[in-house]
Order: sequence, then structure tokens, then C-alpha cells
Amino acid sequence: MHITDLNCAKDIGANCLLAEIGPFRILFDCGLHPKKWGRDALPQLNLVRDLSIDFVILSHCHLDHVGALPVLLREHPQTRVLCSPASRIVATRILRNCIGVMLRQRDEKHINEYPLYTYSELDRVDAALTALPLGVPKTFHENDDEITFTLYPSGHVAGAVGCMVEYRHRKIFFTGDVCFHDQETVEGADFPAEKIDTLILETTRGATEAEDATRDEEVERLVSDVAGTLSGGGSVLVPAFAFGRMQELVHIFNQAKNDGRIPKEIPVFCTGLGLDLADYFDTMSRKTGDVKFHRSLMKDLGVQALRTWEEPGTDVPVQGIYLLSSGMLVEHTPAWHIAANMLGHAHNLVAFVGYCDPDTPGGRLLTRTNIDELRFADLNFISRVLATVSKYDLSGHTTRERMMEFVYSVEPRVAVLTHGDPEAREWFEEEFAIELPKTKTVNLEPGVPEEI
Ligand SMILES: [Zn+2]
Ligand SMILES: [Zn+2]
Repeated sequence: MHITDLNCAKDIGANCLLAEIGPFRILFDCGLHPKKWGRDALPQLNLVRDLSIDFVILSHCHLDHVGALPVLLREHPQTRVLCSPASRIVATRILRNCIGVMLRQRDEKHINEYPLYTYSELDRVDAALTALPLGVPKTFHENDDEITFTLYPSGHVAGAVGCMVEYRHRKIFFTGDVCFHDQETVEGADFPAEKIDTLILETTRGATEAEDATRDEEVERLVSDVAGTLSGGGSVLVPAFAFGRMQELVHIFNQAKNDGRIPKEIPVFCTGLGLDLADYFDTMSRKTGDVKFHRSLMKDLGVQALRTWEEPGTDVPVQGIYLLSSGMLVEHTPAWHIAANMLGHAHNLVAFVGYCDPDTPGGRLLTRTNIDELRFADLNFISRVLATVSKYDLSGHTTRERMMEFVYSVEPRVAVLTHGDPEAREWFEEEFAIELPKTKTVNLEPGVPEEI
């Protein structure tokens, strides 16, 4: 077997891993790099241009995993894309939104290559997507050979899966993005506990020391800070990813309202994709049973559509919870505009609930100590930072220690490290060397095939 990382750097990046197993060629995910622009955000699809790709295993529908799929299928229209039933429902909706964002960025940032694909090309994606029921092996034949795939829930976000590949008694397990603890909308990962030959594992939190606080304690701290802010007359901005994180918070704030911790009459404001995805989560929940969400949660919570915002510097006119994308507070998003309204007013709270890249405005607010100003260049405005800015660890990724527990249970002969920054991969390499010295760890060089 050969494995080649098609991401162009050793980072979280544009997830896309080529595995050549016997006569079969499989891509694990096909995403866009979140920190690159234009065609630079694509994986190195030129390396597979002249090959026939039999399958893509789509782990889940975050853009760093699914965003480049339409480009791949343009060149490889025969390729089958295997995914969970829940991802089958939501994948093209996420891609449609991605086209909308690219069209906006073409104008705002003058990136003429955008969009990288068109709305009509999503028909091809729709035709290629094949849902496999979770936990049920599916065998495909080619000439006299066969290969078997089994999807397992990976707990990271609605529809997320890991995949076992079996070829001639060899077992290769691809974890995808993993969360072992239960979240509000999805249960924790349920992976096989059998011996695996090759384990391809995500390493996102390899450089993150285990937090002392549990998820429940972090939810409790968030709700208590939100309640305190509201009772002091302030509003709360929660920048959150529209797919997954937002629905988690809808559950959490509903519970807080039901318990009387947040006043029932406080409105919650959301925008376009977040509102729309509530319906998709409802459908995923009803049709697959793998997702916990009901559209009535939005009504119970008093969700309203946010249609406009004030001039920068003017506080929001209606006291409420503003649950808005983007999660990292990037420019030109609703969360960005509301931050320009709220940051300069001491009674407000900006509550981050997920990972923020240090190069994004969210990351700058969180990592710089005593930051007293934030520049909104596109709005011609500099805001003083008087509102409280806090971070709550509601991560959808497992801790490195819990990941290692899983690794011990499957004792891989080879471990391939993916989806992590260099320091994160290093921690895993060292941990393997100490704890599992018989396991060979592979930290792939981008674009270079490695024989496994
Ligand atoms: Zn993800
Ligand atoms: Zn990811």
C-alpha cells in the first residue's frame, strides 16, 4: 500500500490523503485549506489527474474535508463518494454556501479564480454521493479483487465518521475528526476495538495540554457568564461555526432557558446559513436517527433572523444573544459587524466557543494579552476592547490523551499522522516512541508517496 498526502503542508489544511491499496485508489476527504485563497486552497489534485480514483471516503462536511470535492469530481466524474446518511443530506448545502462565500470574496478580495466551482457542478456531487449505513460492511468488487468499507460514528459533528477499509485480511482505519465524549447533537465516537494494521489518525489537539475543566463545566461557565452579562444589561456575541457548533449552542441555551438561568424573553439572533441548517439538522435527525435536533428548538429559544446592524461603535439596539458565524470572527461576516457594535461597550460579552486560528481577528483577541483595540479595516473603524472577551472549550475534537487510549486498544503496526500542526504531530510521534515502540509512525511529506 502507498499513502500520499495531497495537502500542500504539514498542517490541518486541505485534507486529502491518497491510499493506493492493491488495484484500488481511495481518497480520504477532499477539502479546502482554510488559510489559503484561490486555487492555492486546493489539495494537490494535479498528482492524481491521470489516475483513476475509485472512491472518496468523506469523513464529514466541514469545508477542510469536503470543500474541494466538486473540483475532484470535475476531473473524475466516475468516482464514488462514500459517506454517512447524515452527510449525504447536508453535503451539497454546505458546498452551495461555500460557492456563495467564494463569490463574495471574488468581489471583496479581487480573487478572480473564485468561485472554484459553480452551482450546476453540485449536481455531479449529488450524483456521486453514496450513503452507507453506519456499522454495516459494504464490499465492492473490481475484476477478481474486492475491498470492504465500514463506517463508524466519529462523534465530531453531525454525520462525522471514521472508516475501516479491509483488503485481503489487511485492516486500515481512518479516524476522520474525532470526539469521544457526547455532544448535544451527536454522541461520542463509537470505534471498533479490534487490532488494526494501519491507523490513519487526526492529531488536532496534540499540542494542547489536557484542560482540567470537563465539557460540562465549560458549558456551565458559559451559561453562568451569559446570564451574568444579561442581568447586567449587556448583550452576548457568540461567534460560532454555522455547521455543528451553532446547533450545539441552540441546545445549550434552550436548556438554560428551560432551567430559568437565562430569561425566556431574551431574543437569540441568527443569520442565513445558521437558520437554514436548523432545518437540515431536523431532517438528519428524523431520517437517520444519528443526530439529535428538532427544528422546534429554534422556536422555543426565541430565535430571530438578524437582518441588519448598526454603525460601527454603536451598541446593538436590542439586548440579546447574537449567535452568529463566523466562529473565528473573520472580516465581512455577521459576527464581525456585530463585534464592531459590541466590543467598545463594557457591559457586553464576546464568547468564543471553538478553535480560533491566531491569524484571525478572533485569534488575535484571544491570544494577545491586554489587547485594547481591534482594527476593522474594511469598516474604517478601530474599536476599543472594553467588552469582556472569553473562551470556552466546547471543542469537537478529542484530547490527545483520549486519542492515545484508543490507539492502545487497536495496537496499530503503522500509525499515519494527519490533520495537525507540526507541534501537534510531534507530540504524537514522541508518545508513540515511548508508549508503543513497535508501532511505526509516519509523518508524511506533502506530495511524497510512502510505502506502508
Ligand atoms: Zn471538522
Ligand atoms: Zn477537520
